[in-house]
Amino acid sequence: MSNKKILVLPGDGIGNEVMSEVLHIMDWMAKNKTLSFDVSERLVGGTAYDKEGDSISDSTMQEALDCDAILFGAVGGSKWDGVDRNKRPEAALLRLRKELDLFANLRPAVVFDALADSSSLKLDIVKGLDILTVRELTSGVYFGQPRGVSKIDENEEKAIDTQSYTTSEIDRISRVAFDLAKLRNNKVTSVEKSNVMETGMFWKKVVTKIHKDEFSSVELNHMLADNCAMQLVRNPKQFDVILTDNLFGDLLSDVSAMLTGSLGMLPSASLGSISKTGTRAAMYEPVHGSAPDIAGKGLANPLAMIMSFAMMLKYSFNMIEDSALIEKAVQNVLSGGFRTADIKQDGKTILSTSQMGQKVIEELSKLDGK
Ligand code: NAD
Repeated sequence: MSNKKILVLPGDGIGNEVMSEVLHIMDWMAKNKTLSFDVSERLVGGTAYDKEGDSISDSTMQEALDCDAILFGAVGGSKWDGVDRNKRPEAALLRLRKELDLFANLRPAVVFDALADSSSLKLDIVKGLDILTVRELTSGVYFGQPRGVSKIDENEEKAIDTQSYTTSEIDRISRVAFDLAKLRNNKVTSVEKSNVMETGMFWKKVVTKIHKDEFSSVELNHMLADNCAMQLVRNPKQFDVILTDNLFGDLLSDVSAMLTGSLGMLPSASLGSISKTGTRAAMYEPVHGSAPDIAGKGLANPLAMIMSFAMMLKYSFNMIEDSALIEKAVQNVLSGGFRTADIKQDGKTILSTSQMGQKVIEELSKLDGK
């Protein structure tokens, strides 16, 4: 039995629908794998603003700080467009990332054989693709000072953002990338613009040093960010782990994600530092948003949310086999010809959100011999 504390934050729109399917899988695990979690569910985003006056209340935030891992659905919607910036649905996400210091964003891009022809690239380029982008999430140009808009003279204004990184910020994200590479194909590509940016040269220097001192068994390559963008669409299978900063990671992880063909299939994790007691703050969420256009219609693909839960089992609780079991179940459902509307293909059976969740559970039972 496990008593890991999970905070479930379904959020708005399809966040609720996709999270329901994960809760069913947790029930299945409690019954069949004698694994139970201590789950508490709270409001977040616009729904929390409507009921509690803020997109994340202080008590929910305290629970987030006290739990072992957070499962997050999605937030947002035009209903809250007029709300104060610091109470907007998205402010909850930023507060969680900031207060939990979730500096490492992990975005896997895995192409399932059954969906390989949904990619906009040719089948042979993406078939079997499995890459992981490790993006620094709490520093760089989105946070650097000074920033803002100032007046130069009557007719002219100037906007400034500052790209800045310290040794320790690069050091800690590099460690995450090297550690994860060891669990995969042992290869890290560090991406920057060392040809034109001071921070790029510095990034390369710090990554090279930590690699030499502590991770020399991992293969390390350096690549310029513009080349990386090209290589991702030319020959993405050359990559295993891509290590990069906040800005380049934002762009490159979207490119790598789209190689897989569907937003509804993409999980993510955001990790903090390991504390003295050996625990690590962590939040798992699908890459997609609250999809107001399809909310409440049973059209949402729950697989990104389900695979975010599988990532949680792997990275927060070291439940490698259970995580792999869920991934295998998803794979089998897809190769069995079942799809949600967003990944529909000719000749395949279209399922609703809850039917897809149910299919994954049936497959889990089959794989588990039940
Ligand atoms: P979105 O990801 O919500 O939707 C983009 C498109 O993809 C829509 O057509 C939607 O129907 C489709 N889609 C997304 N997820 C899907 C799924 N699981 N199954 C099937 N189809 C899916 O992005 P958007 O429309 O730009 O934003 C909508 C709202 O979500 C906005 O308020 C935005 O701020 C918010 N948002 C939140 C997060 C988050 O909570 N992490 C991330 C992105 C966007």
